[in-house]
Amino acid sequence: MRATRVAVVGGGLGGLTAAALLVRGGCEVTLYERAKHLGGRAQTSEVEGFRFNLGPHALYRGGAAMRVLGSLGVKPQGGIPGEGSYALRAGRLHTLPRGAVSLMTTDVLTLAGKLELARLLAGLPRIDVSSLARQSMREWLETRLSREDSRALVGALTRVSCYCADLDTLSAEVAVSQLQSALAANVLYIDGGWSTLVDALEARAREAGVRLELSARVESVVHAQAHEAGAGANPVAIHGHAAEARVYGLRLADGTVHEVDAVVLAGSPGDVASLVPGDAVLAREAAEAVPVKAATLELGLSGLPRPEALFALGIDGPWYVSVHSASARLAPEGGAMVHVMKYLGGADAEAREAELEAVMDALQPGWREHVVARRFRPNLTVSHLLPGAKSGGLSGRPTARVPHVSGLFRVGDWVGPEGMLADASFASAESVARALLQTQHLEPRRAVGA
Ligand SMILES: Cc1cc2nc3c(=O)[nH]c(=O)nc-3n(C[C@H](O)[C@H](O)[C@H](O)COP(=O)(O)OP(=O)(O)OC[C@H]3O[C@@H](n4cnc5c(N)ncnc54)[C@H](O)[C@@H]3O)c2cc1C
Repeated sequence: MRATRVAVVGGGLGGLTAAALLVRGGCEVTLYERAKHLGGRAQTSEVEGFRFNLGPHALYRGGAAMRVLGSLGVKPQGGIPGEGSYALRAGRLHTLPRGAVSLMTTDVLTLAGKLELARLLAGLPRIDVSSLARQSMREWLETRLSREDSRALVGALTRVSCYCADLDTLSAEVAVSQLQSALAANVLYIDGGWSTLVDALEARAREAGVRLELSARVESVVHAQAHEAGAGANPVAIHGHAAEARVYGLRLADGTVHEVDAVVLAGSPGDVASLVPGDAVLAREAAEAVPVKAATLELGLSGLPRPEALFALGIDGPWYVSVHSASARLAPEGGAMVHVMKYLGGADAEAREAELEAVMDALQPGWREHVVARRFRPNLTVSHLLPGAKSGGLSGRPTARVPHVSGLFRVGDWVGPEGMLADASFASAESVARALLQTQHLEPRRAVGA
C-alpha cells in the first residue's frame, strides 16, 4: 500500500503543522511556500538586537496551539504578562481591575459598576457559550450588564482577547469563550518571538521527512469533475453525496505540474479561491469573509522611562500597549521591546501613527528619547475572518474539508469550529490530519476525500 501523497500550500504555522502531523502519520508530504522564508504572519525580524513579531503576539495557554504543539513535542518557552497593568481612559492611566483588591481600589469603575462586574466575572467560567453563537457581543453585554462603565470594561477585555473591535458583529459565543480562556489560563509571550515556533515546527517537519519548497508559488489546484478524471477516479461519497470534483495535482508558477492525492491549502480565503479558479462556492466564501485588522507600532527602546508601567488597555477606545520584553526575551540587555496597537473595525477602520504614539505617551512619557528602532504598520490582517453572530459564530466558519472537491482541504485562522487566531490554524491543521490519516488507513488514493 503506497503512502498518500499530500501537497501543502503555505508555510505559516497552519501549513507547517499540517505537514508535520501528516508526515508523522505516514503520508508523503511536500510543502510549498511562495515566500523565501517560512512563518507567514508568525515571522519575527531582528532589528538592532530587538525581536519584533508582526505586531503583538501572545499564545493562549489554554488553547489549541499549546495542545497541538505539545503533541509534536514543541514546548514554547516564555513568560506570562500581568504586572504593571493599567486601564487607559481619556488619555489617563487608572488601575486595571485584575483581582478583588484592584477591582475595589480602581477609579475606572463606579461602585455599582464594580459590583456588577464582580458578579459577571465570578459566573463567567460556568457560562455555556453554545447558545450564544447567533447573539452579538454588543447584545450580550447589554443583556448581562446595565452599567455603561462595566460594559466598557468587558468590551475592552473582549478586544484584547479576540483582537476585535467590532462588538456589533462579533459572535458572543466566540467572545465569551475567549474571555473564559484568557481569564483561566492567561497567555504566554514567547522568548525570541514567534519565529521560534516556526523553527521548531520546521525542524519537526524536516526530521520526519517533509519536503519543503521555498520561493515556490503554487498557481492552481489541478482537479477534474469526477466523471472526467479517468480510471481510478471514482467519485467519493461525502456525507451521502458524491463530490462534484476531485483533486489530482498542483500547478506551480514555474509551469510544472505535480500529481498528488490530496491538497491542503493554508493561505487566506482569497488565496484558496484563486487557486481553484471558477469555483463559485470558494469565491463567495472569500468575498464574504470579513477580516480582523489592526495597526501596530513596534518600538525598540534603550530603556523605559517608567520601568514599572508595562501594560495599558484602552477602555474608551481600541488601544493596547504592552512591554513584551518584560515577560519574554525579546530585547538586548537593558532594552525594552514594546508593542502599541489599535484594533481596527466597525466604524474605526484606519489609524494614524500619531494616535499610537499618544498611547505610548500615556504609559511611558519621554519614550521618544530612548528609541533605537521603530516600525509602524497601519493595516495588518490579524485573522482572515471575524466569526460573526449573523453567520453563527465558530460553526459558521468554512470547514477544513472542502465538501464539493474530493481530496481538497484548508487550514487557517478562518477555518473550522475551534479557536481564534493561531489557535484556529493549529486546530484546523489537526483536524485535516485526523481526516486524512483516518481515510489513508482505509484506502489510499480513493479515500482522501471521504
Ligand atoms: C498584528 C497581529 C497580531 C496577532 N496576534 C496574535 C496573538 O496574539 N495570538 C494569536 O494566536 N494569533 C495572533 N495573530 C494571528 C496569527 O499570527 C495568525 O493566526 C497565524 O500566524 C496564521 O498562520 P497561518 O499559517 O494560518 O497563516 P499565514 O501565517 O498567513 O500563512 C499562510 C502562508 O501561505 C503562503 N501562501 C499563500 N498562498 C500561497 C501560494 N499560492 N503558494 C505558496 N504559498 C502560499 C503565504 O505566503 C503564507 O506564508 C496576530 C496576527 C497579527 C497580524
